[in-house]
Amino acid sequence: MINPIIGIIGGGQLGSMLAIAAKKINIKTIIFSDDIDSPAKNFSDEFLCGSYDDENKMKEFINKVDIVTFEFENIPYKTLKKINESKRVLPKPEINKIVQNRLSEKDFLNKININTTKYVSIKNDKDLKSNIDLLPGMLKTCTMGYDGKGQYKINSSQELENLKLDFKKEFILEKLINLKKEISVIITRYGRERYEIYEPIENVHEDQILKYSKIPSDINTTISKKSEDWAIKISEELDYIGTLCIEYFIDKNDNLYVNEIAPRVHNSGHLTINSHNISQFENHIRAISGLDQIKIKKIYDAKMINLIGDDISTYRKKKFKDNEFFFDYLKKEIKKKRKMGHLTVIEKC
Ligand code: ADP
Ligand code: MG
Repeated sequence: MINPIIGIIGGGQLGSMLAIAAKKINIKTIIFSDDIDSPAKNFSDEFLCGSYDDENKMKEFINKVDIVTFEFENIPYKTLKKINESKRVLPKPEINKIVQNRLSEKDFLNKININTTKYVSIKNDKDLKSNIDLLPGMLKTCTMGYDGKGQYKINSSQELENLKLDFKKEFILEKLINLKKEISVIITRYGRERYEIYEPIENVHEDQILKYSKIPSDINTTISKKSEDWAIKISEELDYIGTLCIEYFIDKNDNLYVNEIAPRVHNSGHLTINSHNISQFENHIRAISGLDQIKIKKIYDAKMINLIGDDISTYRKKKFKDNEFFFDYLKKEIKKKRKMGHLTVIEKC
C-alpha cells in the first residue's frame, strides 16, 4: 500500500509528536486546528486553520487527506461521524461517543465487568443532596474536562450546599479513592487480538495535572498483569484501532480501578519516544495506516517530568546531559497550569 496522508484534528503537543513520528517513517501529515498559533504547525507538512464546525474548511481538509485521526477527544461526535462518511476516521467515532462522557464511559466499563469508583449522575440540587453517602467525592462535569478542569473535591455536605452549580451542564459525582498510586497502560491495537502493549507507567499528579511519569512502575505483578489484561479487554471491546491509554487508580488496599479512557496518544507515554524502539506516536501512525506491526522493545528505563507554566523559562536556558531529552512545545504564550514542554531522562535497564 502507498503511504497514506494523515489528517490530524488538533494542533497541540500531541499533534506535534504525531507529526514528527509520521515524518520519521515517510508519512505526510496535515493538521487541522482552530488555533492559528498551534504548535503542531511547526512539525506537520501542512496546516489548516478553521473552526471545527466550519464545513467548507473541513471539506478542504478532508479532500487533502486519506485518513483522519485526532489528538484530543472532545471533537463533537457528529463532526467525526460526518467526516467518516467520506474519509475513514480512526479510532472510529462511536468510541468517542462512549468515552467523551464520563457517565457513559463508566457505564461501559462496568458493563464489561471492569472496576471503577462508585458514581452517580447529578442533574440538579436534589441529586446532590440524596447522594451525600458518596462523600468525600469528586464532582466533575461529564464532558469537556481535562487537566482537572471542571472538577471539585467535596468533603462534606456543607461544601455541597455552598456550590452554585450551573445545571445546564451535566455532572457526575465519584467517590474519592484513597490513592496509593496512579498508573496508566498504553496499548496500540492493529486489529483483532493484534496489539503492542507498553508496561504500566507510574504517574504522579499535582493539582490534578500530570507532573511525573516513570517506567518501571513500582507495583506488584498481580496489579501489573490485571492492568494490562483490562487494557487489552477494553481495546478489543471497543474494536479500537490506534493508540489508546487507560488511566488507573490503585487504592491503599491494592484495589485497581479504571479512572478514564483516553482514545488517543497520552502525556504519560511521552517517555516511550526515548525508552522504546517504537514510540506510542509511531505505533499510532503505523496502526491507523495499516503498516506492519513491529514488536516493541524497551531499551531504557525512563522518567518524564512535565514542564508546566513558568518551568519552561528555566529549562530553555539549561544544558542537558546525554541521557536527558528536552522537548519545548513552542507555545507562543506561557500560561499558568499550561503544559509547555517536558524532559525525559533515560537510564540503563
Ligand atoms: P482529567 O480528565 O482532567 O484528567 P481525571 O478524572 O483523570 O480528569 O482526574 C484528574 C486527577 O484527579 C486524577 O488523575 C487523580 O489524581 C484525581 N482524581 C480524579 N478523580 C478522583 C477520584 N475519584 N478519587 C481520587 N482522585 C481522583
Ligand atoms: Mg485524567
